[in-house]
Amino acid sequence: MSDIFNQTTRFADLGLRDSVLKGITEAGFEYPTDIQARLIPVVLAGKDALGQAKTGTGKTASFGLPLLSLADPNTAMQALVLVPTRELAVQVARELDDLGKHTPIRTTCIIGGESMREQSDSVKQGGHIIVGTPGRVMDMQSRREIHFRDMRFAILDEVDRMLDIGFRDDIRKILKLFKSDHQTIFVSATISDDIERLARSFMRPDAEKITTTSGSLTVSLVDQKHLSVEPWDKRSLLLHLLKHEDPDTTLVFCRTKATVHNVTRYLRDKGINAKEIHGDLAQTKRNNVMSSMRKGTLDVLVASDLAARGLDIDHISHVINYDLPEDPEVYIHRIGRTARAGRRGIAWAFVSSDQGQLLTEIEKLAGVEIEKMDYPDFTPGPVPADVANERKKVERKAPMETLAARSKPAVAEGISQDDLAAMFPNGVIPKSLPRRTLGTKFRSRRG
Ligand code: ADP
Repeated sequence: MSDIFNQTTRFADLGLRDSVLKGITEAGFEYPTDIQARLIPVVLAGKDALGQAKTGTGKTASFGLPLLSLADPNTAMQALVLVPTRELAVQVARELDDLGKHTPIRTTCIIGGESMREQSDSVKQGGHIIVGTPGRVMDMQSRREIHFRDMRFAILDEVDRMLDIGFRDDIRKILKLFKSDHQTIFVSATISDDIERLARSFMRPDAEKITTTSGSLTVSLVDQKHLSVEPWDKRSLLLHLLKHEDPDTTLVFCRTKATVHNVTRYLRDKGINAKEIHGDLAQTKRNNVMSSMRKGTLDVLVASDLAARGLDIDHISHVINYDLPEDPEVYIHRIGRTARAGRRGIAWAFVSSDQGQLLTEIEKLAGVEIEKMDYPDFTPGPVPADVANERKKVERKAPMETLAARSKPAVAEGISQDDLAAMFPNGVIPKSLPRRTLGTKFRSRRG
C-alpha cells in the first residue's frame, strides 16, 4: 500500500472543487495516490506537467480531477485527452464522467469503429472534455464536427506510446491546432529520456516533471516470475498452469495476432472459457469481449498489445507473457494490468532458451529481478522433428573443433561445459552469453 497511497495528504487539502470532492468520496477513494497528491496541485496552479507513475496508481484521476475542477461549465470542447486505443478512451471517459457526476462538466468519447454521427451529436450537446483516439479526432476536426477554438487543455495519456513513431505525426498535427496559451499534461508509467525531450518540445519551458517511480517501474504487489519453456511446449504449459493454478481472470499476451487467435482456439478446444482481442477484430466484437471481461464472465483473455496499456479491470489476477515483448517497456505495461490500486497480482513470463538477454533487458528497465519458477509437474514434450532435423544439419556442418571454439567466450567467463549444457538443455549453445553488468541500478544473478 505504502508505495501507492499518500496517507498524509487529504483530497480536501488539494484545492479541488467541492462538487469534485463529492465524486471522489462516492468513488470510494480515501487517500490520494502519490502521483495524485503531487500532480493535482501543479495542474491546478496552471502549469504544464509531465507525470510518471507506476501502472495502476491512479494517473487518470491525477489529471482528470484537476481538469474537472478547472473546466468552465459554459464552454464546450475545452479539453482534449488523447489515448492510444478505443478501449482505453471508453474507460477514461467513463471514469471522468463518474468522478465528475456532481459537476456540470460532461465528457464525450470520440473513437473509430463507431458511429461518427452519434459522437458528433454528443459533442454538440455540450461535451466539455473530449477523450479520443488520434485518428478519429483528426477525422472529426477535418469534417468540422469538432473545433479547437476554445481548447485550453491538451492531455496525452500513455505519452510515450502517443509520441512513438506510429502516432507522432498525428499528435504533432493535433497539438498544432491548439491555441498558443493552452496547458499541457502528459502522463505514463514509462518515460525514457528521449521521450521526455520530445515531450518537452510541446510544453512550456517551465513544465514540471513529477516522478513517483523511485526504485523500480513495477509495483511491489505484483509477484513476477519467469518459466523456462521451449516454443513447442508453450501451449501445453499454458493449459497446465490454467488448470492447476486456479487463477481468477487471466490475461495472456502474445506477440502476433495469429498467435493470439491460435492460442485462443487451442484453449477453447480444451474446454477453457477464453476469448481473444486484437486490432483485426470488428469493434462490436472488441466491445463484447471487453464487456464480458469487465462483468467477470470470462476466465481467460488472450490479447495482442492492444490490451497492454491502460486497461483497468480489477479482477485480473494473472498476466502471462506467452511471448516476451521485444520492447521491454511493453512488459511494464502488460504486467500492469494486474496488481492495481493496492491489490496483489501475479505476472509470469514464458522465456525460451534464446531469450535470456531479452529477459535481462526487461529486468534492467524494470529494476527488479524476475526469478525463475520451476514447474516440476509439467513434462515437456519431445523436440519436434523439424527442429531436431535443423539441429542435426547444423551439427553436420560444424566440425567438433568449431563447436568447441564457439563456446570459448562463454568458457572464458568461467562457466564450465557441464554448466553450459545444463543452461541450454537443447544443445544449442549461444556464441556469447548475455552481459553480466547491468548498469548501476540493478544486477541480475543470471549470466
Ligand atoms: P493508471 O492510469 O495509473 O494505470 P488508473 O487511473 O487506471 O491507473 O487507476 C487504477 C484504479 O485505481 C482505477 O480503478 C481507479 O478508479 C482507482 N483509483 C484511482 N485513484 C484512487 C484512489 N485515490 N484511491 C482508490 N482507488 C483509486
